[in-house]
Amino acid sequence: MDGGGDRRSKCGQASVGRGGPALKVLLVGVGSQAWLFRDFRVIQSNRVAEAIKILCETEVAAIVVDLELPDSSGLSTVQRLRAVAGSVPIVVLVGDGAGDAEIAHQALGEGAAAYLLRTASDSSVLEPVVRSAIVRGSHTAEAVERTERLDLAVRGSGDGLWDWDLGTDLVYFSEHSSGILGLGQAETTGAPDLWFGRIHPDDLAFVEARLRAHIEGSSSAFQCEHRVLNGFGEPRWVLARGKAVRCLEGKASRITGFLTDVTTRRRSEEEAVRRSLHDGLTGLANRALFMDRISHCLGALKRKDGMPFAVLFLDLDHFKHVNDVHGHAGGDDVLREVSERLETVLRAGDSVARLGGDEFGILLADIQEVETAVHVAERVLDLLAEPVSLGRNELVIAASIGIAMSTTGYQDEASMLHDADLAMYRAKSLGRARYQVCDPAMHEMAVARLRLGIELQEALAKDQFVMHYQPLVDLETGRVAGLEAMVRWRHPKRGIITPSEFIEVAQSTGLIVPLGWWVIEESCHCLSQWRRRLGVAEGLWMCVNIAAKVMMREEMIEQLTGILSRNSLPPDSLVLEFDEAVALEHGECGMKRLEELRGKEIRLCIDDFGTGYSSLSHLDQFRYDLLKIDTSIVHRLGGGGSQDQLVSTMLGLTRELGIQTVAEGVETVEQALELRRLGCRLAQGHWFARPMSPEDVEAMILEPPPWWAPGRERTAGAPTS
Ligand code: C2E
Ligand code: MG
Ligand code: MG
Repeated sequence: MDGGGDRRSKCGQASVGRGGPALKVLLVGVGSQAWLFRDFRVIQSNRVAEAIKILCETEVAAIVVDLELPDSSGLSTVQRLRAVAGSVPIVVLVGDGAGDAEIAHQALGEGAAAYLLRTASDSSVLEPVVRSAIVRGSHTAEAVERTERLDLAVRGSGDGLWDWDLGTDLVYFSEHSSGILGLGQAETTGAPDLWFGRIHPDDLAFVEARLRAHIEGSSSAFQCEHRVLNGFGEPRWVLARGKAVRCLEGKASRITGFLTDVTTRRRSEEEAVRRSLHDGLTGLANRALFMDRISHCLGALKRKDGMPFAVLFLDLDHFKHVNDVHGHAGGDDVLREVSERLETVLRAGDSVARLGGDEFGILLADIQEVETAVHVAERVLDLLAEPVSLGRNELVIAASIGIAMSTTGYQDEASMLHDADLAMYRAKSLGRARYQVCDPAMHEMAVARLRLGIELQEALAKDQFVMHYQPLVDLETGRVAGLEAMVRWRHPKRGIITPSEFIEVAQSTGLIVPLGWWVIEESCHCLSQWRRRLGVAEGLWMCVNIAAKVMMREEMIEQLTGILSRNSLPPDSLVLEFDEAVALEHGECGMKRLEELRGKEIRLCIDDFGTGYSSLSHLDQFRYDLLKIDTSIVHRLGGGGSQDQLVSTMLGLTRELGIQTVAEGVETVEQALELRRLGCRLAQGHWFARPMSPEDVEAMILEPPPWWAPGRERTAGAPTS
């Protein structure tokens, strides 16, 4: 007996030749041939009982057995060996007598791999037969193993198997695929309708088309995801895959594949998409989805298969106040309530979205006349006018609405929403709680602003901005005490353009930041030149208008102190002018910034006092260095009426608070004289001088005009800009 060697090589192939480890062959009752086997190691035995024992202890690659043995004969020899040999191939030797052929065939039926006549079985015949039986056996064993492995994998993966015989038109469904389709049986075989009858009606045509394409050979595999309705009519998502088995001519005879339940994956994908297109707070569509819907409607209009429509842009009035007073939770409640009310005005095809913050958008489908959109806007305003309950409080909310009509002829969704937004702003500026339709003039204005924004960028790059300065005159001494820097755009075609035409666009586009820094740098440079070169300019200071966007920049203090030190200017020679909105709208941060500037000894001035936000009480909260009385107040001076009284009170208060007052917009000698009489120390305005070029300023500093000389009474300063 011999127990060494391995039947398989590493890669699983039977090693049947020289070179690999020799396989063992068990010869039972074939003793005399043993020495003739060259490629196998031979184990010999003459009895079945002994052979069985060997098989239990040793792995052999093949058995050759003579059916006539001392302890066994005929078919039972094969049967007994087969019982212990498993898949090991058995070659039988039979006699050539009558009935032996029958026995040989029966042996094949019992699983023998081959038979040979005892008389013709010398090793030259026997060895090749054994070799081929081993190879065939190994292939069969591998195939079985592969099938078992596949079966395990299928069960483990949760995929259900289906096998459709196109000849009989019957489909086999494994237990799992039957479960996926909700067939209510374990594995089953039946007509394809078992499957197709379960497919969601909306998906059926698509699945059939895919299957047909594959059966006809125009796709390499069948694959599609579809819904099936289970027993409760609840849709589940199924991934169906399959591949056809084809004959040589390419005709499909069957398709075999898998069904996989992908409902969980599909639902989480759908949820992710839903979340990315909806607002978390209100559940409404978000801006992206709203834009997509507008784009869709515009596309349909362009293809001439859509109807005109309207877009409403809605912004709640004073929502910041709601948040301030009722906290963010209260604010959220209001937004949810508004979204619910807005949904009630929708008809089929309309949609509402939360565009962000307190902004909402409504798309009204099929709107031929602007009047219809206006009617909806009025209904929305009415709906919102109903008080909202917040805990024990009742709150009245209002909104401003802008309307844009597709009939204007928009090329893209952004322009349409932009116009609706623009109209909404117009509604706000007209007093809020109202709607405004975007008209062509408004649209033109928007386009012009856009163009201006681009031109301003270029102007900055091409150095087209220049500075003009307006003197601030000391009403007692007649000296030029300070200057206000005012930026001008020297337009290549239109000449000098004043800020009223471009500063707002510069602010909204953000260009004000680089422009603002340029203004400060340039003005400080000029001031330092004058202070150094002109003897009478000692102590001269410069007011520079500064926009909130520049003021609130993180690098602001560092940049400003850098400019002052580069120009060797003391910090108090610079006065930053801004209106109160900076401090009020930027809350604590705004106040903090003012404190920081004060800490650096840079002076601060409230501009245009007496308009907009201005309130005397605010002066108490922060100590400004200067205050400019607005032109509108100055212009009403001199009648001995309430304005004179107001200015007098203002001057008294500012004096008490240690704030210097400047009257701006002085245009007549009467105004100048009245201001002097009321005790206002500083003034600026056309009567003294218009904003002028640095050269003219220089001349005026050196030799200020005799302001009060007879004959000057009615003359205003030389017009420059
Ligand atoms: P502001 O700071 O109140 O400037 C005074 C404005 O009144 C200037 O207009 C000036 O030319 C004008 N003005 C001066 N005297 C008289 C007068 O006697 N009568 C009348 N009716 N107007 C007079 P300007 O230069 O067009 O500036 C307008 C506004 O633009 C300024 O108002 C200021 O807020 C802003 N601005 C001007 N330059 C700059 C700048 O460099 N940066 C920033 N951020 N804003 C600037
Ligand atoms: Mg100013
Ligand atoms: Mg002003």
